[in-house]
Parts: sequence; structure tokens; C-alpha cells
Amino acid sequence: MQFLEMPDNNGYFGKYGGQIIPPELKAIMDDISESYEKVRQTEAFQKELQELYTDYVGRPSPIYFAKRLTEKQGGARIFLKREDLNHTGAHKINHCLGEALLAKYMGKTRVLAETGAGQHGVALATACALVGIECEIHMGEIDIKKEHPNVTKMKILGCKLVPVSRGTKTLKDAVDSAFEEYLNDPVNSLYAIGSVVGPHPFPMMVRDFQQVVGIEAREQFQVKEGRLPDYVMACVGGGSNAMGLFSAFLKDEDVKMIGVEPAGKGLDTPDHAATLTLGRKGAIHGFECYNLQDDNGEPLPVYSIASGLDYPAVGPQHCYLKDIERVQYETIDDKDCLDAFMTLSRLEGIIPALESAHAVAYAMKLAKELPEDKTILVNLSGRGDKDADFVADYLSL
Ligand SMILES: *Cc1c(COP(=O)(O)O)cnc(C)c1O
Repeated sequence: MQFLEMPDNNGYFGKYGGQIIPPELKAIMDDISESYEKVRQTEAFQKELQELYTDYVGRPSPIYFAKRLTEKQGGARIFLKREDLNHTGAHKINHCLGEALLAKYMGKTRVLAETGAGQHGVALATACALVGIECEIHMGEIDIKKEHPNVTKMKILGCKLVPVSRGTKTLKDAVDSAFEEYLNDPVNSLYAIGSVVGPHPFPMMVRDFQQVVGIEAREQFQVKEGRLPDYVMACVGGGSNAMGLFSAFLKDEDVKMIGVEPAGKGLDTPDHAATLTLGRKGAIHGFECYNLQDDNGEPLPVYSIASGLDYPAVGPQHCYLKDIERVQYETIDDKDCLDAFMTLSRLEGIIPALESAHAVAYAMKLAKELPEDKTILVNLSGRGDKDADFVADYLSL
């Protein structure tokens, strides 16, 4: 793990981040911050996490040159960082293992979280089973009905699944429910946030645990090509897979970075989740960031064909990187996402997660406009097994 300069001691990345929370919660977050600072410097923690990445997750994940995709597009060569090959099929296991292990080192007896589509829930339940710590996941009743395979997996993995029947019975209420439970016993529990969002120190911790993606990719690309890529890109929901990749290239001024947000059914409709592109600065879920809110400050109902991207806020470091123009943020709509999903499947035999297909779609567009000596490295954040039935139905295959 490399320790990066940001955030500052108050958890700010420029104007973004911080802890917009009640005083009693602040004490809890400060305790997590302090413990994290201590634990992460110990050799025991670093060694145990590194061994799990290698022997359990299967790291390093390879970098793959997508030759047939490149040939079809014409132009820049496209490479994929294969986070889809990780155990459990996506990058989320990287930070879930970090959080579960941190909980153990802090002497906690339980890890708590909410889940929407169930991806975070499954990754966390997996990490907790491995580390040997109790796991409790809150999930809306409507989501439980919709996401059957993930619900089954969480049960098999031995986590306590708490159905949430209040309000909209979806993610928003699951967050409230899980948080109330957490506040009942913050001394013995750790709340495990699923992306680089929430109050400090979570945006920093989750980024640190995901950094392994960027550190590996930078080294692997240099070995393979003898230089750094011209572009790196990743899809952005909360922003963890993108921050993991970008953090290793921040100081490489010649490497251009692009984060890809979901334009859903179009930026001129309400059905998108393009937080950085169309959002305004404000406080939400305990921190300051660009977000999509109505005039009363209530989060807008966002949408993406990829359930992992439909979040009305985004990590504070992305907001900062947008403002200083170190990272460029672009959008891809459902149609181009589906096209990239099918194209990558049929040309390379790699079925991507719909989330990751947003980044692939942007790479396909950009490659065509660039000369052949340029290179693009895309973070393939996860595999598309979870999306296969949905896409087949949707396209009447
Ligand atoms: C959850 C998820 C995402 C979105 O989360 P980030 O924090 O933005 O990375 C992207 N890809 C996959 C495969 C996911 O499961």
C-alpha cells in the first residue's frame, strides 16, 4: 500500500469530503480513523492483506491486449485490466477484504452494511466468512425479490440478512435501517461502506484498499509495453474502481484519465446517474460532493441499466480531480453500453459487467479517433454473469 497525500487531516479533498455528521457520530468516525492509521502501518496487517490478495483473490489480475476489439475499432490499442477474474468476479472484494480485516484487527465482532443489488453484500459476506467475523446485511424487500441469486449466495455464505420493509423497501431505506442498527452498538461493530463515499475516513480507506489495482496495472503495463498508457479509464458509480486505478497514475502528467458515468436513457431525461456531469455541490450521506438533488435537498431518484452505477452522489476525490481538471468525466448511455457488452463478448469471449461496459464503450469511441501508436487501458471492473439473463431478455436473444 502506498500512502497518498490526500485527504487532509479533516478528510477533505479540496472542498469535498469531510464529516457532515452529528457530533456523537464524529467521535465514532474519529476512532475508526485513528485505528486505521495505526493498523494499516503494521506489518502484520499489510502482510495478511497482501497474502489474501495473492492466494485468495488471485492477484495480480492480468492486463490483456484486446486485439480483435482493437482491430474492429481501428486506431488506438485497447488493453483491459482484468478485475473480472478476481474471486467473486469484481473489484469489490479488494476493499471488502480490507474492511473485514480491519474490523478484526480493531477487535470488532461484527461487520454491518446495506446492499442494493446485492453485489456489495455478497463481496462483504465472502470477506467476513473468510476472516471469521459476523456479517449483517440490510436489504430492501423489493430488492430481495429482484436479486434472487445474490440473496441466495449471502445466505449460503452465512451472513445475517435483514429484510427492510419500511418506506420504498429499496436501497435508501436499507441504508437508514443498517445505520440505525450500527448506532445501537458502534463499539463492537464496523460499518463497511461499499465505495469511496460516506464520511471520512471511508473515501480514503476504500481508495487505499483499491490502490492495488492501479499499482499493479502501472507496473504490468510498463513491463508489457515499455512505457505508460496514454489513457486510463474506468466507470464511475461511487467511484472505487476508478479511484483504485487512477491513484497510481496521478503524478504521471502525460497519462490522461477518463471517468465514465452512466447517461442512462439520456442526459435530457431524468433517467441517468451522471453525478459529476450534471450534479451540484452539496452534502449527502455524511460528506460533501457533487450530487443529484431536488430543490429541497432530497436525493433525486437516479437510474442506470447497470445497478452498480445508479447512485446520486460520488466520491469526494473525484469531485476534486474534476475541478482541477486532472480527470475528465464523460458519459455513456444504455444503448452504447449494451453495444459494448455484446461486442466485447463476441469479439473477445469476455462478458463484462454492465457497469464495466460503460468504460469499454467509451474506449471504443475514443480508440477510433486516435492514431495506432496510442494506448488505452480500461479497468474491466467485473464480469457479466450477473447481467447475462437480463441482457438476453432485453435484446430478445
Ligand atoms: C459496484 C460496481 C461498480 C461501481 O462501483 P464503483 O465504486 O464506482 O467502482 C462498478 N463495476 C462493478 C462490476 C461493480 O460491481
